[in-house]
Amino acid sequence: MGGIVYWGLLRIAIVIILLWFSYDYFDAKYFWIIFGLAIYIVVIHPIIAEYKEFVVKNRNVINNSLCSKCKHFNETAVLCMKYDEHPTDDFTPCDGLDWEAKN
Ligand code: SF4
Repeated sequence: MGGIVYWGLLRIAIVIILLWFSYDYFDAKYFWIIFGLAIYIVVIHPIIAEYKEFVVKNRNVINNSLCSKCKHFNETAVLCMKYDEHPTDDFTPCDGLDWEAKN
């Protein structure tokens, strides 16, 4: 999840810098249209695609794992808050020893 945010911010910075230096090549009335399209194509669409891929990849951990029913589990980041590690299908950071039921 952090990678999605990191690369999203990096792409925004690159798009803004490129558009800033290429401003003189566009007619001013088209600039905001080009800016909006560039932000959508280079930043927003990849973020949406990467997030969907992240959810699909972690669907089983989010819905059907031991951690998914534990109060220390953060579903949005797929993270064990107690151990600060990412559980997977094959890996439970505490080996089930610190599991506590969600309320
Ligand atoms: S404490 Fe154990 S069971 Fe609970 S989220 Fe962390 S690794 Fe999973």
